[in-house]
Amino acid sequence: MNPLRQWKNELTAQRAVKVLAEKGYNAVYAKSLAEAREKLFEMIPEGSSIGLGGSETLAAMNILEELRTDKYRLFDRYNCKNHFEVCRDSLMSDVFISGTNAVTLNGELVNIDCSGSRTAAIMYGPRKVIVVVGANKIVPDIAHALERLKEIAPMNVKRLHHGCPCETTGFCADCNAPNRMCNHIGITLNAQKFPGRLNVIVVAEEAGF
Ligand code: SF4
Repeated sequence: MNPLRQWKNELTAQRAVKVLAEKGYNAVYAKSLAEAREKLFEMIPEGSSIGLGGSETLAAMNILEELRTDKYRLFDRYNCKNHFEVCRDSLMSDVFISGTNAVTLNGELVNIDCSGSRTAAIMYGPRKVIVVVGANKIVPDIAHALERLKEIAPMNVKRLHHGCPCETTGFCADCNAPNRMCNHIGITLNAQKFPGRLNVIVVAEEAGF
């Protein structure tokens, strides 16, 4: 990466960690995705049941193989017969691991979801939530986050082949397609309610989209 971009990412990520910590999140800085992976596993007690939110950031961290070992009880959304039931079980997991679509420099998490399983789990249910976010997803405020959501949604539609109009055009037309992806927006404003529940690893690297 361009060293100036890297320098900017590091400072932005550190700034986000500071703001998130002030809002009650357990916020952790990681210089790289490899370091984020180490910190993530340090946060998960062996024997935990694990739920996952779909995430390109997590995919880039290559965590699935480890989570599938007998050290953990993974609700495996990527290898299951009934995705709906696995997502329901994940709502009561010990640890829910997820990416996020945006983190604001006011300490908010902003997510858009198809089924709502990820937005719901971040808000309530799992005893502990660990969110990993790259520096490219840090935005000034909720208004910018909502713009970001609209910008990136077509890429998710394309990735998952939902067949909505944006899969052809590349931009959001606020469709009414049967397989529309953008059905729920979850905004977490503050993490003081349950200390230690919401953990955010902010990576000074671009991850996901
Ligand atoms: S609302 Fe429809 S058109 Fe817009 S991004 Fe979502 S799926 Fe695509």
